Amino acid sequence: MSEPLRRVFERLIVNTGPISVAHYMAESNARYYDSRDPLGSGGDFVTAPEISQMFGELLGLWLADIWIRAGRPAPAHYVELGPGRGTLARDALQAARRFGLETRPHFVEGSTALKAAQLDLHPDAVWHADLSTLPTDGPLLIVANEFLDALPVRQLVKAASGWRERMVGLVDGRLAPIVGDRPMDAAIPADRRDAPEGAILETCPAAAAVLYEVAGRLASQGGAALFIDYGHAEPRLGSSLQAVRAHRMVDPFAAPGEADLTAHVDFSALAPIAQSRGVRWLGTVEQGRFLRLLGIDARADALARAQPDEAAAIATARDRLIGEGQMGALFKVMGLAAAHWPEGAGF
Ligand code: SAH
Repeated sequence: MSEPLRRVFERLIVNTGPISVAHYMAESNARYYDSRDPLGSGGDFVTAPEISQMFGELLGLWLADIWIRAGRPAPAHYVELGPGRGTLARDALQAARRFGLETRPHFVEGSTALKAAQLDLHPDAVWHADLSTLPTDGPLLIVANEFLDALPVRQLVKAASGWRERMVGLVDGRLAPIVGDRPMDAAIPADRRDAPEGAILETCPAAAAVLYEVAGRLASQGGAALFIDYGHAEPRLGSSLQAVRAHRMVDPFAAPGEADLTAHVDFSALAPIAQSRGVRWLGTVEQGRFLRLLGIDARADALARAQPDEAAAIATARDRLIGEGQMGALFKVMGLAAAHWPEGAGF
């Protein structure tokens, strides 16, 4: 058993000083994901593809539909970023296959534990440590569900003396957020400089880098992408860093590496990055609306007719995915497509 990450951080901070929130989040999640499968009712959190097959099926149909209208280019590659247990890919590829889209899955995955789970469902998959090794010989059909929210955020906080980086230090011997001492005013957009004391500006350079890469590939190879995550379509101020363990919110600084750290995705910062590379932003819409437009109600009815004993469970799953107070409004879907590709459904 390796040394608890909390101790590693404590020693590092004692020896070299506070670390940035981004450093803290990156190391915590690398440790967290590498050592476990956190998904499902026995784990820490449940994601949309684990709630119902309808989620993956509808995303697979979305990809097949845009690919058919693009003229069925071959080969086309299904790419998933952070595929978890591989459930979404299984359901999406099964649905897409019925419309003639046969592709070998390419997975970008960092976790040893989850790679093993993915291999069980997808013995033919190809794994990648990052996007740089993805195939270049055809359009990419990219899906990322709850991937961007796990990437490290950087936080800048407005102190009495100006903007500073938010750091993690030791307060009374415990890991806790503190205000760093390096001035950061130059990193703040002009319209945010006058924010009140205590305001926090959160950015996610790692998510920006992913969008930059994805958009570059779509521009040069063709294809489309769907990013699904909880987050907001307009810019906001404030920390959205949170930790979940065994389906409960916990203190993000209490047990690094033992809880899932996430932050809300700022889709308003990501869309312009794709557009700057000449890729079409199809829109950022609420998950509930998107799934309804793709026909989740008809799919739920068909599934319930085929398995009458499961009708109540299917209705509950549909409500979790699209309900306003559940995942329907908090989760957003952002769609991208190459400039010469058609419009996507649901936006
Ligand atoms: N998409 C899945 C899993 C979401 S959990 C689902 O919806 O069920 C987040 C996923 O992203 C996991 O597969 C995790 O291992 C992966 N991940 C997180 N950070 C990563 C990183 N920096 N590089 C590659 N994969 C990462």
